[in-house]
Amino acid sequence: MTNRILAKLAYGSRYDRVPWAQRVYVRPGERLIREAQWRRLTGRAPIMSRAAYERLRPLGEIEEFLDCMMCGESRQQPLFEPTGGKGWRYHVVRCPACGFLYRNPNVRPERLGDLYSTGYSTFLTGKYAANRQRRYDLTMKAMSPVFDEGKERRLLDFGSGVGLFLELAERRGFDAYGVDLSPESVAQANERLSRARTYFGAPEEVPEIAAGGFDVITLWSVLAHLPRPLEDFQRFRSLLAPGGVLLILTVNARSLLLKAYGSKWSGFTKNHLMFYSPQTVRTLLARTGFAGVAFAHHYGDTIEAGTTRLSPAHAARLRRSVEASDGGNMMRVLAFADEEAIGRWGRGPLTVHRLHD
Ligand SMILES: [Zn+2]
Repeated sequence: MTNRILAKLAYGSRYDRVPWAQRVYVRPGERLIREAQWRRLTGRAPIMSRAAYERLRPLGEIEEFLDCMMCGESRQQPLFEPTGGKGWRYHVVRCPACGFLYRNPNVRPERLGDLYSTGYSTFLTGKYAANRQRRYDLTMKAMSPVFDEGKERRLLDFGSGVGLFLELAERRGFDAYGVDLSPESVAQANERLSRARTYFGAPEEVPEIAAGGFDVITLWSVLAHLPRPLEDFQRFRSLLAPGGVLLILTVNARSLLLKAYGSKWSGFTKNHLMFYSPQTVRTLLARTGFAGVAFAHHYGDTIEAGTTRLSPAHAARLRRSVEASDGGNMMRVLAFADEEAIGRWGRGPLTVHRLHD
């Protein structure tokens, strides 16, 4: 509310027709203000021992307290308290050592199923499906040349849902597989697909997947849902063939929208557990044996698809704000398993950063 009043005073009604989620990037000077606000917030919010933090928070039946999974730090800096429809609410802390943002208390892995109610798979069809597939196409384009042609390469979509990405992957000629933890989604996906196949369960439980040798693994909006990311990424690394790559699309904890809207940020959804920035995703990849990483900025689907109604000047300003702040609302990451992968795919517009343990 205060935000809205201040913005009205500063900018009048000039930006009223710019969609809400783009205004922060478009209004002159706002990026610097939001970044200053963020430094002030993280500089001033109290940092406490885990014991003191635990005394502050009731622990739900399906929950557990965590230390920072990226660096092992136990101290906690409470920052946000997202809430939403039907009364869900959780707490997000920042690691004072490495800046990682995570839900604390978090959800115990064996109780993860409790978060996903039925009806999840029907929600993922219709207009939503078309928008999702456009987003996949735009991201594959941004990661060129990895996804340009499948050429029978083995691809695993982890958390494949109703098969929206696998459908595109098989069309491009990949030998595509999926795994998902929802049996309804797996059934729907296999109806939709012709050559590609999805399986219910964890990768190590499905012989076709456990055999490994994948050239590409994709994680579309899955990373923020993983309660044990280090274990999962060690497994992904071992499932990759020499020269293999891993693609991640997830919400960006450096988003300018998070800096602007705090607990009301769109990335704090009901089922998200951890929130990565380019910096913390590098830590995750370095610790799990990947050799390199590259990032593609996310400007938003309408901008990238050329269907935006922003004026050219506003669209250009949005792009500049995203680049200057590393602050797109989503993060797109390409991880390289080894030197061979960097040699093969680290070309084009992507800049590869080498990772060292
Ligand atoms: Zn940390």
